Amino acid sequence: MERPNAWKFYSEEELAEVEKTSAEYKTFLNRGKTERECVREAVRMAEENGCLPLESLMSGNKALCPGDRVYVNQMGKAILLFIIGKQPLEAGINIVGAHIDSPRIDLKQNPFYEDSDFVYGDTHYYGGIKKYQWVARELALHGVVALKDGTVKDFVVGEEESDPVVGISDLLIHLSQEQMEKKLKDSITGEDLDIILGGKPLQGEEKEPVKAALLQILKERYELEEEDMISAEIEAVPAGKARDFGLDRSMIIGYGHDDRVCSFAELKALFSLEGVPEKTCCCMLVDKEEIGSVGATGMRSNFLENAVAEILNLQGCYSELLVRRALRNSRMLSCDVSAGFDPLFASAFEKKNAAFLGRGVCFNKFTGSRGKSGSNDANAEFMGELRKIMDDAEVRWQTAELGRVDLGGGGTIAYICALYGMNVIDSGVAVLSMHAPMEIISKADLYESVKAYRAFMASTC
Ligand code: MN
Ligand code: MN
Repeated sequence: MERPNAWKFYSEEELAEVEKTSAEYKTFLNRGKTERECVREAVRMAEENGCLPLESLMSGNKALCPGDRVYVNQMGKAILLFIIGKQPLEAGINIVGAHIDSPRIDLKQNPFYEDSDFVYGDTHYYGGIKKYQWVARELALHGVVALKDGTVKDFVVGEEESDPVVGISDLLIHLSQEQMEKKLKDSITGEDLDIILGGKPLQGEEKEPVKAALLQILKERYELEEEDMISAEIEAVPAGKARDFGLDRSMIIGYGHDDRVCSFAELKALFSLEGVPEKTCCCMLVDKEEIGSVGATGMRSNFLENAVAEILNLQGCYSELLVRRALRNSRMLSCDVSAGFDPLFASAFEKKNAAFLGRGVCFNKFTGSRGKSGSNDANAEFMGELRKIMDDAEVRWQTAELGRVDLGGGGTIAYICALYGMNVIDSGVAVLSMHAPMEIISKADLYESVKAYRAFMASTC
């Protein structure tokens, strides 16, 4: 039952393909450090591949035909991309879905304060993080500021070589006797995660001169007022680029593999499909997974259902019943990362049901915690179909669960899509140090996930 390491089987050509895919992925990761930036990249790839915004068709009288490519941009934070298949939508859609939000540290709406000649940005972290991992490291700020006149400005600092970076301080070891006695989870608290933004007072200013200097920089360089932060979304993320990891360059270290590695693999797979697919294919990149898939851009929003209704309408056959049938007859890979087996923390895993870096794309029949609670637990019949699809396409794959029973757990968007009555299973790439500022994946698993998602989208059952 042990699955072999994928690297053992690659020809010279395949090794070159693995490297090519990895290089493209690193560029995607570097350009997409927030959900908005990932949507922008997805739109760029979509337009390069002849994919049109669905709204652009809604105004005209053009019918949607097999082979047509359309996308729906949901508020710039989630996106659905479709290639219309030969079979009617009612026959179901082959869906691959991933999330493009990652754990990070968000600035609060009233963030700036001065203390002891520093000016700080107050924050509230986003998603599940080990807080101690986010101090004493370079952070970049990425986001947008929406102004009262309706304009939305990009705000990115800390990625260019010439840019400054920001960050959160930690206590020196010399004085950490008390801190070191605390539980790991209490050693740095949520309110301790305040970002140093500056340390130089504005000359001639008496009241909070360091904060005044920061506000002057915001005004002069970015034409922003302090009050504009009320309608801003600024995310602090690890500064710097994704890079090869290991002397053999077999892995990639970078911020946000969870879940941009599956997001990229989906996009790559969708646009490498040959000819017109039998079934309509959908690549879905969603926001807010890390905080429960909430909000208008999270999976619990109805955008998939709405998009399916619009497509049926453009095909001249909309009805509520057909929307329901199209969704019920769909099949989905909920593409999200899995916990890679870590020999240094072996006791957290059950080895024969763990995901190993390099052993290919991972299928998780269930996730959840404490007796599979909150999990989707896919049907055996669906897993059976997938075994055939994967083996026929010579995909290297493995199965896994998220760690030892009763140690913890996690969820994905799978159970939400399953509400439509469709078959859904979790599938993704194994990650080391998941949710840490820098996560690690194997290039082989990225490559195999592209192959897997392509084979799934091209399949008919
Ligand atoms: Mn995830
Ligand atoms: Mn996650």
